[in-house]
Amino acid sequence: KAKSEGRGTYRFFEANMGAQVRERRLLEHDLRHAVARGEMQLVYQPQTDVQSGEMLGFEVLLRWHHPDRGAVSPSLFIPIAEESGAILQIGEWVLREACREAARWATPLSIAVNVSAVQIHSPHFVQLIHEVLFQTGLKPERLEIEITETALIRDPSRAQSILRQLKALGLRIAMDDFGTGYSSLSNLRTYPFDKIKIDRSFIRSVDESEQTKAIVRSVLGLGRGLGLPVLAEGVETTGELEFLISEDCQAAQGYLMGRPEPIERYSEHTMGDGMLEQTKKVA
Ligand code: C2E
Ligand code: MG
Ligand code: MG
Ligand code: MG
Repeated sequence: KAKSEGRGTYRFFEANMGAQVRERRLLEHDLRHAVARGEMQLVYQPQTDVQSGEMLGFEVLLRWHHPDRGAVSPSLFIPIAEESGAILQIGEWVLREACREAARWATPLSIAVNVSAVQIHSPHFVQLIHEVLFQTGLKPERLEIEITETALIRDPSRAQSILRQLKALGLRIAMDDFGTGYSSLSNLRTYPFDKIKIDRSFIRSVDESEQTKAIVRSVLGLGRGLGLPVLAEGVETTGELEFLISEDCQAAQGYLMGRPEPIERYSEHTMGDGMLEQTKKVA
């Protein structure tokens, strides 16, 4: 009896795995056509100066509106796009769209674009960035690239050289999701980062936990010691923001300051006062 139950469980597991693999293949297939079919969209989330409250710029986040499935989360489709290689084409679209958008703003706010390991290590990545900046006319100092530390592990010396070449173009590089990787500290020494983004899992529990407070404080101290500004991700409550103000954190991002939204929602910031005056006059 035990044996037949075991076999049953195994068969169920196998059938279930088959379904998951099929599901993945379907998504993989749809991803290849998603850009061309106009299913991809960019949303923009404000990054603000913690002390003054002033807006510094936006992180650019990708949204996929699947014709049958509706919104598919980036945490689901980005890994599939990375494994299948579709991220190269998708990532290039993200870069071009975001730079073209930012180049037309009346204000010099910056944009932070997420870039995958596969993109960093692809041939001609530096050339691509150079080309996109040239073609869109966006000033390199307005572009920041966000990289998770796991992105760099594959080939550290090559990654190091690519990051240096990128910085030579004049853009900035932020370490995303700091504290969640294998060796955050040694990565800070190995690579020429310009900014640390503390992962939102640390910010989320800062209100309740003294331990988390101590961790966030020490990351802020680390940033000061290394001369790197620190941005706190996922700030949702005024309590969290007050803690960051009192600990001299430089920058923050989160639902409290603004959700990721289509850029039109933030046009008063991107188009500046001139544009506001104009709309007021028309209204
Ligand atoms: P990430 O780069 O760490 O982006 C921050 C994530 O936190 C975003 O999730 C954002 O919507 C979410 N978030 C921001 N503020 C809050 C908050 O106050 N509370 C909560 N609960 N969440 C907040 P999203 O948009 O789902 O993206 C997930 C991840 O997918 C990103 O994490 C990034 O790693 C990846 N991703 C998104 N767009 C792109 C892209 O264009 N290219 C690449 N390579 N990866 C991307
Ligand atoms: Mg990011
Ligand atoms: Mg992050
Ligand atoms: Mg992340």
